[in-house]
Parts: sequence; structure tokens; C-alpha cells
Amino acid sequence: MNRNDLDWWIDLVPDAAIVVGRDQVVVAANGRADAIFGAPEGGLKCKALELLIPEASRQAHRQYVADFFCEEECRAMGAGLRFQGRRLDGQLQPMDIMLNRIKVADQEFTLALIRDDSERVAIQQIREELETTTARLARAQEVGGLGWWEFDVECQRLVWSPMVAAILGLPEKIEASLALVAEHSHPDDRPRVLDLHRNLMTAAGTSLTYRIRRPDGEVRWLQETIDHGTGNRVLGVMRDITTEKSLEDRLRKESVIDDLTGMYNRKQFNRDLKSRYSAFIRRGRNASVIMYDFDHFKNINDCHGHLVGDKVLRQAARLVMDQLRPSDSAYRLGGEEFAIITGDTVPEDAVQLAERVRHLIEGAEFRADDSLVRATVSLGVSGFRLADNHFEDILRRADRALYQSKRKTRNTVSLIE
Ligand code: GH3
Ligand code: MG
Ligand code: MG
Repeated sequence: MNRNDLDWWIDLVPDAAIVVGRDQVVVAANGRADAIFGAPEGGLKCKALELLIPEASRQAHRQYVADFFCEEECRAMGAGLRFQGRRLDGQLQPMDIMLNRIKVADQEFTLALIRDDSERVAIQQIREELETTTARLARAQEVGGLGWWEFDVECQRLVWSPMVAAILGLPEKIEASLALVAEHSHPDDRPRVLDLHRNLMTAAGTSLTYRIRRPDGEVRWLQETIDHGTGNRVLGVMRDITTEKSLEDRLRKESVIDDLTGMYNRKQFNRDLKSRYSAFIRRGRNASVIMYDFDHFKNINDCHGHLVGDKVLRQAARLVMDQLRPSDSAYRLGGEEFAIITGDTVPEDAVQLAERVRHLIEGAEFRADDSLVRATVSLGVSGFRLADNHFEDILRRADRALYQSKRKTRNTVSLIE
């Protein structure tokens, strides 16, 4: 082939192609090459090759081309180095380049076939991002003790993430099965687990907290939430909540506030009574205890239901708390039994407060759902005595006084000084 043939020959090449001489100047380029490099038609011809190379790699590239002329080394498309080409507008673009030496009129030239590599690079980037995200997600699931399963209702096929097996303490390769989950659940919780898994199609949005017993005997708490999957599939998300559960248990144990009423609980009552008793013994500061119990509360539950009963207890507690001075405290001792410790008072003052409480509750209309409920309480009052040997002595007297009120008419206050 002579130099004149080069131009029409290169136009026949189906890929973008340029021919470069030893002086690293483009001697021929086809229309596809012009397009890839953003040159006008015929615009690449006679251009210095380095214009098509990003500045940062020009020096290395110059040496590479010079070496290529000395020692031919064919590079096939798709197998060689990935390049960033430089378009004439300065933009960089990923390219795959195949090199061949050709002879034209007894002179050595390099023929470069060029393909736009941006799609492959973009796919590669997406793949890498996906791999990173998947690895991150798997790690997050591991750290968060989070597993998932998906059940295809049509083919009755279950798949699960390796974390489900790990949560259950089973080998990683074990075949996924919801029956296995139920089998490992705590016998007391199993009926609820079975029920949840039997009704998957209607269970979307439900969550169940239950215990499992791992093969090594360890008991863990799980929370399983059912969600709509795609198409005929149901998705289950399983979370190991053992740590949160034990924290919650600890908080509950450490808590001194009663959940239902917001009053202090029995634990705090004992603490406060002890410290009031020691203030009485050391500094002669008196205090009184009022104990009260709702009258015939069983009837309220029986007539209106337990939930309404709870609401009555909560509203009555609010009424009582609103009556207290800063030196008084109210407690729910358990069930529908309450107490007030009144600071720096003699029992006669406490009787007045007890009477106010009695009167308030007797006159209140408790509203719960559609019910209007009335209630009364019986109260017992007592104060510390110098002869007391123990902080609980006052309690026994207040309890006896309360019992007297119950025996009398109920809805009344009794005092044992
Ligand atoms: P009495 O006048 O002799 O006190 O009669 P009573 O029905 O109130 O009997 P008692 O105090 O022995 O029983 C308490 C009843 O109150 C029993 C139980 O059903 C109910 N109760 C206890 N704790 C709660 C609670 O937290 N919520 C509700 N709703 N009911 C409770
Ligand atoms: Mg009662
Ligand atoms: Mg009671």
C-alpha cells in the first residue's frame, strides 16, 4: 500500500482508526476517529499525537510509542491497557486501544484501532459500587443482628440471608425453612410464631417479639416483622434484640416510676419511708403515711373491663398528685393500692389531706371510652412513734387503719396515731 491509498483504506476500517508515524504525528484518521476525539471531519490528520493524550500521561506515552516502534508488541482489543483519551475540547474519555504496526511505502507506521470504552467503565464503576454497598450492607446486617427471609407463596420456596442462620445459631449452609425458626422458638412463644408463619399473606405489617433457644442452649430475643414482598413474595425481617431487651429489663428494674400512673413505685416508697424514719429518729421531723385502696374495684373491672379500670386508676392518680405539696409524695404500691407520705406533718394534718383525697375521688366522674365511672376509696392514716423500732411499723398501722375503714363503711378515713 502506498501513502495515497491510506486515506480510502482507513475509511473502510469499521472501528475508529488512526495511523501514526515515528514522529508521533497522525498521518491518517477515519471519520469515526474524528468523532471519538471530537474533531471536525479530517481534523485529526497532521495533528501531533500528544494532543489526543491527557497531559498527565503525555511523557510516558511518548516513550511508549517510541518503544513500540522498536519492538513490536501487538495489543488486542479488549485485552490491553485501558486508556483515557483526550478529546480536542480537552475532555477525557475512557478508550480501549488496539495497536498494530503496518508498512506503507516501506515506512513503519502504527495503526491504532480505538473503541469508546465509557460504557464498560461505567458498568465497572457501578459493579464496584454495588459490591461495596453489598459488602457494607452485609456488615451492617451483621453488626445490627439483622437477617431477612423471603417466601415465594406460589412456588412455596423460602430463601434467607446468612444472618438468619447465624441468629438461630445454625450452620450457614442449612436449608432455609420457617419450620426451623418455629422449632427453635421458646415453647411458650411457639404457638404465636407458628400462627404468624401460617398466616403470612395477612400478616404484612405485623411484628412479633419472641425468644429462641439456640442449639447450644443460649436464649435470644428476636423481633420478626412481616412485610409485603414483591409479587407473590412475603418478606420477613428478623432482628436479634437481646441487647435492647436486657437493657429494657434493667431499666425497668432500676425504674422508680410506675408505668400506669406516673407515681413513684413501691421500691421508691420503701426508700423514702426509710429516710423519713431516720429523719424522725435523728431530728424529730415527723411525717405521716396515708394508705388507700379502691372500694369494690373488682366490680369496676367486671362492669367496664380491665382497660377502663386502668384508666380510672390513672385519672384518680392525677387528681391526687395535683393535691400534693412539694414535701408530699404519692406512690402506687401495687394493683389499686396507693400511699402518700406527707412530710413535716402530724397525723391530724394528714387526715385532712386524706379526707380531701376521699372527697375528690368520690366526686369525680372518670371517663374512659364510652363509660362514665364513679369510684370511692378507703383510707388509713398513721404517723411515726418514738417507740417505733423499724421504719415499717408506721406502715403496719396505716394498713390496719385502712382495714378499719374497709370494715366500717368504706369510702372513709381512719387514723391510728
Ligand atoms: P375492696 O373494696 O375490698 O378493696 O374490694 P376490691 O374489689 O377492690 O378488692 P381488692 O382490693 O382485694 O382487689 C383488687 C381488685 O382490683 C382485683 C383486681 O382485679 C383489680 N386490680 C388490681 N390491680 C389492677 C390494675 O392495675 N388495673 C385494673 N384495672 N384492675 C386492677
Ligand atoms: Mg380494693
Ligand atoms: Mg386492693
